[in-house]
Amino acid sequence: MKNIAVIGSGTMGNGIAHTFAQFGYQVSLIDVSDNALSKALATISKNLDRQVTKGTLSESEKETTLANITIFTDLQTGVAGAELIVEAASENLELKLKIFKDLDHFAGPGAILASNTSSISITRIASVTSRGDKVIGMHFMNPVPVMKLVEVIRGYATSDETTAMVMDLSLKLDKTPVEVNDYPGFVANRILMPMINEAIYSLYEGVAGVEEIDTVMKLGMAHPMGPLQLADFIGLDVCLAILRVLQEGFGNPKYAPCPLLVNMVAAGKRGVKSGEGFYNYAKGVKEAVVAAKFATN
Ligand code: NAD
Repeated sequence: MKNIAVIGSGTMGNGIAHTFAQFGYQVSLIDVSDNALSKALATISKNLDRQVTKGTLSESEKETTLANITIFTDLQTGVAGAELIVEAASENLELKLKIFKDLDHFAGPGAILASNTSSISITRIASVTSRGDKVIGMHFMNPVPVMKLVEVIRGYATSDETTAMVMDLSLKLDKTPVEVNDYPGFVANRILMPMINEAIYSLYEGVAGVEEIDTVMKLGMAHPMGPLQLADFIGLDVCLAILRVLQEGFGNPKYAPCPLLVNMVAAGKRGVKSGEGFYNYAKGVKEAVVAAKFATN
């Protein structure tokens, strides 16, 4: 496998493109937004610079990595010749169904269609294609060039052959793949999101402030980052979308998103990518901003 297409060039798409390109794959990075593509290339270049400064990559490897990435706004042109397509567009069921329907039409008949979805059913996504055996979840973690895990999700119809190819490919990217079955939230988000939601409830109910909650979890549980800061990094809109998938998928109210999270997303506070979430990132340093005014008591 040599040619990879990545759909969506946001937080995850740029990291996935970066990683494949760094390991010598030819990457077509596709987005509907020109602006998102320019931002993605700038982010990849900045992140590669960081690797060069750390001494984990040479200047010439950085240049080769960048040269391995080509950007497209047209899906059909972008996926031509791709042997694996990794979809990392926004976490929205209707959007993903539309993309996979188009991919089934435009991609070569042997191409594997993977989704980086955090929570949407791979089986449901596969159902709009004529190649359910070749549809799979390839769930990278953020930031992709740094994090070792790839959660490989088998849909109901995913073949052993497709699974083996994606597991093997993940190893070639120096990642550790873990095979899981297709149920809401898979493993990572089924466990992570209720914890983040509970942290937001603790803030909402006035149990403690933003920094206090994050400090308890960092120092008390040896987490590298507190749950509220992590939610900002993931994107509050993404967290909300995942909680809704869990709530609906299991029909269990224990997954209902905290009203504070719902309000923040409605107010455009989406975390790091919008400049503000539980912290403000505008001044280059993070500063807790969500105060007791949101607390119910
Ligand atoms: P994002 O909002 O940062 O980026 C999404 C990108 O998709 C945007 O650039 C948007 O322009 C583009 N897009 C929208 N419609 C498109 C289309 N039809 N064709 C091509 N591009 C399109 O989102 P993200 O955080 O990168 O999340 C992407 C996917 O990865 C989601 O499914 C999310 O659940 C999953 N994911 C996110 C994280 C995380 O930490 N953010 C971690 C793991 C998985």
